[in-house]
Amino acid sequence: MKDCIFCKIGRGEMGTEFLYEDNLCMIFRDINPVAKTHLLIVPRKHISTIADLHDDDAGLVGHMTICARDIAKKLNLEGYKLVFNVGRSAGQIVFHVHMHLISNS
Ligand code: 5GP
Ligand code: ZN
Repeated sequence: MKDCIFCKIGRGEMGTEFLYEDNLCMIFRDINPVAKTHLLIVPRKHISTIADLHDDDAGLVGHMTICARDIAKKLNLEGYKLVFNVGRSAGQIVFHVHMHLISNS
């Protein structure tokens, strides 16, 4: 998606530093953190919102969760929340699926 901010980040157009990346997803710090550690786990594939997922995206979302687990372990996070905002009324502002990893450690 040409004008999607997370697609642009995925193409390396924004100079965003990745804490982790592979062929399916990338992890970078939220530009406006709400806690000491606030990361975004973002699939390379453009899907607007969780509500638009297809059944065969289940593996991708599972992979995002495994990547969240691994980065939390690498950063020695003691506890954390994994959050998807789904839809404008739930606070979603970037319409490219992403998982927030939020931790006070
Ligand atoms: P949402 O409310 O859509 O679930 O969360 C989108 C998140 O993306 C927000 O927490 C916002 O701070 C973050 N964000 C928006 N634009 C950028 C950006 O250009 N770079 C980074 N690193 N984070 C962004
Ligand atoms: Zn996108």
